[in-house]
Amino acid sequence: MKKIILVTLAGLFSLLSFSQKIDKIINAAEVERIERVLAADDMQGRKTFTPGIDKAADFISDEFAKSKLRFFGSNTSYFQDIVMTKAKPVAVTGLLNNDSLTSANVAVNTTQAEVNIASLNDYEVVRVRKEDDFNKTVFPLFDREKNLLILVDTAHTRRFKSMQRFGGNAKFASTVSQVFILTANLEPSSFHLQVRNQLTEQRLKNVVGIIPGKSKKEEYVVFSGHYDHLGIGKANKDQDSIYNGANDDAAGTTAVIMLSKYFSKLKNNERTLVFVAFTAEEIGGFGSRYFSKQLDPAKVVAMFNIEMIGTESKWGTNSAYITGYEKSDMGKILQANLEGTAFHFEPDPYPKQNLFYRSDNATLAQLGVPAHTISTSKMDTEKFYHTLDDELETLDMNNMAEIIKAIAISSKSIISGKDTPSRVEKEK
Ligand SMILES: [Zn+2]
Repeated sequence: MKKIILVTLAGLFSLLSFSQKIDKIINAAEVERIERVLAADDMQGRKTFTPGIDKAADFISDEFAKSKLRFFGSNTSYFQDIVMTKAKPVAVTGLLNNDSLTSANVAVNTTQAEVNIASLNDYEVVRVRKEDDFNKTVFPLFDREKNLLILVDTAHTRRFKSMQRFGGNAKFASTVSQVFILTANLEPSSFHLQVRNQLTEQRLKNVVGIIPGKSKKEEYVVFSGHYDHLGIGKANKDQDSIYNGANDDAAGTTAVIMLSKYFSKLKNNERTLVFVAFTAEEIGGFGSRYFSKQLDPAKVVAMFNIEMIGTESKWGTNSAYITGYEKSDMGKILQANLEGTAFHFEPDPYPKQNLFYRSDNATLAQLGVPAHTISTSKMDTEKFYHTLDDELETLDMNNMAEIIKAIAISSKSIISGKDTPSRVEKEK
């Protein structure tokens, strides 16, 4: 009896000291301190390729240094530098059957100044038909190390045009080209094309730091969020023109910074923890796509991607959802680790919105990694999503602290090496 009481008391004390310890590191005041910097007007909306986002990267790097994180892989700082080449077709000649090809119906994804396709046999032909989901079909093609000729049905004209403006014409170092043709004829009998491109190099960076595992160094657990946002727009009636993105996704970035502080104090992780703030999510997920190529996906045991946790979920405070819940058993493991707490994780209640494929978890998930996004955003009604009003004042700092604590606690058995989530089925 005595012994039991003693044990229970000891258990209580350790629980108490544990909860005090975590509250000391993860709390609303700290959330606010970090959010105030990331969502400040002088970050100019953290748009990729602007000085504002570089300022944010410097801040995140300083915070990682305070957590005494190590650099990732062969990096010599917390920055993971990315060079992208943007190709703008300046001269286009060619024929698809008898239809002439011009810069209006051709998009190129290449690092080459000249692209020549003499016949249909030169490149592997891929078709994006009327009934295909454009994003789901096209996005994975950017990462295929193969010359591709992609015939896009004119039903997707709007998407094709926006791809021409954004992602479809920027590429990491690679010698292959992907050429997109907007056409009503997906079964041409003849084809030739010559494109001369104007090339510009663009630089961007992820911010990455690690805490090496004590015993399972080659098994990674990734915590991520994206630090880029939409930049500056047209002023509203309050003369505000800055997309501060306090929730999207300064909130996730804040969580990543705070988790790095917490786990570096705890220092008991058997697996290696990787903390990463991604760039360029809003313009096509380039940061996470690049990151996914810098490591062996087989070594990534789990990925916690954190997106928009600044508001209450549809179930109220102390709750959040997990995208792609049914695709691995990671959600169940997290729920089990939270048993006995006031916090609960739920499966994503907005399956029609395809959120699993719309954030930075998607690239690693497509490679088989149990990579999920944790969010509270009410995607059907979230008032300030991608608006000028996504500001600090709209965040619930206390609830955010509770969510970040819950993520820390729920990851416990994965970090210790006790649990290994099942893999996600790879995309073909
Ligand atoms: Zn976001």
